[in-house]
Amino acid sequence: MTAWEQQLTACDCRITMPRRAVMGALLEAESPLAPQEILDRGRQVHTRLGLVTVYRTLELFLRLTLVRRVHREDGCQGYVLTSPGHHHVLLCRDCGRAVEFPGGDDLQVLIQRVEGETGYRVDEHLLQLFGRCTACQQGESDA
Ligand SMILES: [Zn+2]
Ligand SMILES: [Zn+2]
Repeated sequence: MTAWEQQLTACDCRITMPRRAVMGALLEAESPLAPQEILDRGRQVHTRLGLVTVYRTLELFLRLTLVRRVHREDGCQGYVLTSPGHHHVLLCRDCGRAVEFPGGDDLQVLIQRVEGETGYRVDEHLLQLFGRCTACQQGESDA
């Protein structure tokens, strides 16, 4: 059994064909996929896959923190697989390739300042960086 299958089994979720198809699409993707793209790719594995099922499956995967939702440069919501632990995503503006990088005490100074200024207690953060990957930077200098 693969890691994601074990995680599903551990919380009494069945490994169904649609779930396999959605996970398969995400495993092969280099950049975050929109639900419609997951549907298109997933249908190559499971022809009866529907968009509602894709959304439901993504909700389940989100709850189990198998995937994360990211904002794409085109304004769509995309989904990528997560590694265990505290990570952030860096997205290339040009080709959409996504990489994870580990988060640490990264935002502690900022969060403490904001708490001091607002009186809020902050218990979660979302941080996503945009930039240009090395391949796209190279493409630019060739042109
Ligand atoms: Zn790129
Ligand atoms: Zn962080």
